[in-house]
Amino acid sequence: MNTCYGLTGGIGSGKSTVAKLLEELGARVVDTDEISHRLTAANGLALPAIQQAFGDTYLDKDGALDRAKMRALVFSDMDAKQRLQAILHPLILKQAKSDARSPTEAPYTLVVVPLLFESARYRDWLNGVIVVDCPAEQQVARTLQRSALDESMVRAIMAQQMDRASRLQHADEVILNDGSLEQLKGRVAELHKRLAER
Ligand code: ATP
Repeated sequence: MNTCYGLTGGIGSGKSTVAKLLEELGARVVDTDEISHRLTAANGLALPAIQQAFGDTYLDKDGALDRAKMRALVFSDMDAKQRLQAILHPLILKQAKSDARSPTEAPYTLVVVPLLFESARYRDWLNGVIVVDCPAEQQVARTLQRSALDESMVRAIMAQQMDRASRLQHADEVILNDGSLEQLKGRVAELHKRLAER
């Protein structure tokens, strides 16, 4: 079976950027955010269960999940969050495993999971976990740059995620993303070489 590494990190740390760079170097990438989007698009596999649990209120006119509306709900309603996760997480996990285990010519597969350490269902079948790390203030600045969230929301999300020190403790590999994109590219290339040679 091909080797599968998890890739995780806090909000805005640079997971997508690192995944894209590794993909360009030859890794196969399985992205659980993308899987979640597919599952909740119109006719997605998760929609019947979401509709049953939440009614039509959270579907848009095309029948896809209204992500902004649902995000606002689960941000303030813990029970709704748990019900949504109970529907989505098992489906995402199943799809990610099946995608990651399908044959590939790539030297390894990277499975991108934002809350990898928080969910416990990934560690047992992954061959190691790479953490993308940067100081908290850079997380905030980068997230504000590219999303509609305001600073207090970003900090609230960060407070719900595992703290930086614990994440680093659980890492098998760390990519420090505290400098320029050029610096990051160099570090990613070194990591790719090591992973591909294993
Ligand atoms: P999220 O958890 O929100 O999905 P993420 O961890 O996937 O975020 P990215 O989307 O890769 O993070 O990066 C967040 C933003 O910061 C993006 O706009 C990205 O282009 C930018 N960015 C990432 N790393 C750097 C860097 N080293 N220098 C400058 N900009 C960067």
